[in-house]
Amino acid sequence: MSELVLDNVTKVFDDGGEDIVAVDEVSVDIADGEFLVLVGPSGCGKSTTLRMIAGLETVSRGEIRLDGQVINGRPPRERDIAMVFQSYALYPHMTVRQNMSFGLEESTEKSDDEIESLVTETGEMLGISPLLDRKPGELSGGQQQRVALGRAIVRDPKVFLMDEPLSNLDAKLRSQMRTELQRLQEDLDVTTVYVTHDQTEAMTMGDRIAILNDGVLQQVATPLEAYHQPANLFVAGFIGEPSMNFFETELQGDRLVAENFDYPLSQETREAVGDSTHVTLGVRPEDIELLDSGSASGDHDFETVVDVVEPMGNENNVYLSFESGGDADFVATITGMRSMEGGQPAVARFPESAIHLFDTDSGHALK
Ligand code: ATP
Repeated sequence: MSELVLDNVTKVFDDGGEDIVAVDEVSVDIADGEFLVLVGPSGCGKSTTLRMIAGLETVSRGEIRLDGQVINGRPPRERDIAMVFQSYALYPHMTVRQNMSFGLEESTEKSDDEIESLVTETGEMLGISPLLDRKPGELSGGQQQRVALGRAIVRDPKVFLMDEPLSNLDAKLRSQMRTELQRLQEDLDVTTVYVTHDQTEAMTMGDRIAILNDGVLQQVATPLEAYHQPANLFVAGFIGEPSMNFFETELQGDRLVAENFDYPLSQETREAVGDSTHVTLGVRPEDIELLDSGSASGDHDFETVVDVVEPMGNENNVYLSFESGGDADFVATITGMRSMEGGQPAVARFPESAIHLFDTDSGHALK
């Protein structure tokens, strides 16, 4: 069992007399064997959180517990945690084999032979057996990345911590390594905390994702929950590409009145809005239906004009405006070979089943 618990973990940096709260009362339980992705924009406190778990940074307030034991004060090497860095942090003058086994002699009770066979086995698992006698400088980025992973794996730790480990790889290799890493983590069944600013990486890799903003945890959920039921405006805008479209509206009776349209609500949705009067309506680009101009048939269909079309291969991002000649007000994603072009009128449908509603003032999700 390796359950990792962050209990109101806070980090305050002293920046020349001024307090910077980098991590603000973050609480999350990471189950044994779970792959948790910590995601958020630059500066939100991801690395600081990971470094506190690793013991590379002190905890200002709160507790970090591993298997029920508080580890706040324990030095890094006594935490049974292995960290993989973005920079790989390999020793350039050592071979791959030496990089993987370095320090193991002192930190485990294993004999040299046992360590040797562990390194060989791990090398096979990672497909780097032919490279074991090379030095890091003679390896590609992807191979170095595997060595860095191998070094973490041979330690057989209770927890893996990974800080943007794939960000130095090109797009193709990155997506290949994502799948590999995921499979590896599943096979090894080691509790893992993985930091990234890339929401695609978070969505595709994590059992659950923890979304941070300004040091504050916004939501901890499975990727699908975060996508379908974002807890607030921040999560809604952060998860999904292109981002969710937002329209500020005011509730009048059972209608949401936006600058360019009125959106009547069913009784059920109206009830979900409750007492909120300033309501932000969100709709994902992929949930918008585009119909031929003149075919508006309901209260949730709006006449628009295509501004620009961004071809993405098998789908197109269509930027639309409520007024002819105006700047784009929102974006819709359409699949298939349907062709649309700038200046063309179209009807945009925002199906009620797909819309998200938020209290504009608090940001909290209403529906
Ligand atoms: P990135 O994705 O850019 O690496 P991050 O989410 O990992 O960002 P952190 O590196 O954890 O963010 O930083 C969180 C906040 O704490 C930032 O505002 C940063 O400037 C601040 N910070 C980090 N380390 C220190 C430090 N040693 N002293 C003062 N402030 C710091």
